[in-house]
Amino acid sequence: MSDSTPALQRYRIGVSACLVGAPVRFDGGHKHDDFVEALAGVADLVTVCPEMELGLGTPRESMRLVREDGLITLRAPRSGRDLTDGMRQYAQRKAAAIAAWDLDGFIVKKDSPSCGMERVRVYDHNGVAQRSGRGLFTEALMAAHPLLVVEEEGRLRDPTLRENFLVRIAAHRAVRRLFAGEWRLGELVAFHSSIKLELLAHSTTAYRALGRLVAHGKRMPRAELAAAYARGLLEALARVPSTGTHVNVMQHIAGYFSRILSGDERSELAELIAEYQEERVPRTSPLTLLRHHARKSGDAYLARQTYLQRAASRSRSPACSLSLSGTSIDRRISPARVAPHRR
Ligand code: SF4
Repeated sequence: MSDSTPALQRYRIGVSACLVGAPVRFDGGHKHDDFVEALAGVADLVTVCPEMELGLGTPRESMRLVREDGLITLRAPRSGRDLTDGMRQYAQRKAAAIAAWDLDGFIVKKDSPSCGMERVRVYDHNGVAQRSGRGLFTEALMAAHPLLVVEEEGRLRDPTLRENFLVRIAAHRAVRRLFAGEWRLGELVAFHSSIKLELLAHSTTAYRALGRLVAHGKRMPRAELAAAYARGLLEALARVPSTGTHVNVMQHIAGYFSRILSGDERSELAELIAEYQEERVPRTSPLTLLRHHARKSGDAYLARQTYLQRAASRSRSPACSLSLSGTSIDRRISPARVAPHRR
């Protein structure tokens, strides 16, 4: 494992270029997004506009996905121009080139026939649309990089999905960093130990399965173990935790130091967790108290837990934050730090 690999020092996130305010849309406009701008303060953003890179220029005809003989095509309906082959070839080339960019995630523009991730309109020959498609660029991107954390800017307006996106890109970075170069089984064991409570909030099944994988890691070839662990971790974290799973994790944490708390302290903690469960206080309230007791208890296992480290980040910057394995993102607006379009 290397802690000093330059390419892994900052988060690197791909973005549909119109979301950073580049005037690349078909009408010459953009779709600037505040959250993307906030990310630019802590991550290197690498922009892509598939339609511009295909040489279509701006302004240009609008395009749509059309189902023809069971196949999805990309059409410019006014002229009838068929852009399917050109876009598919470009998208495959671009997706392959992106492998060298060390990206942790990608934020794509929703509803776009090139960039949309889900529920993109697909028209039939009568002009009737169903929201069942995926943009052709994003389809190629996700096929080529199944572990890459891809989200749409529209979904990221939901605070829960936004938090989940940040947790996943941090995990993507941390696990790639762990497996970069030579690594020892003991490092995987320590990593897995630090992320256990985070995993428990997302999926108890995955928590157990990954635990078994690590326990049997000695018997597996290293590359196979690394691939299986990274895939299992990122798939598990893609499941959004519920209030109930967070409550379970908090009660689990409380069990570590309940014997050293006074009766009043135990009641205060239990009440705060119950108030969170009843949606009367935010999650940060019981988490802050849990973290306080965890620190006082001196428990080394709890001190390493990313779940509690994130609690600390949230309490410092309640709008949106995370910390995972020593990395952190706090949401803040700052001048965009955006790499130029790359071809
Ligand atoms: S192709 Fe993608 S990046 Fe370019 S304008 Fe359309 S949605 Fe934005």
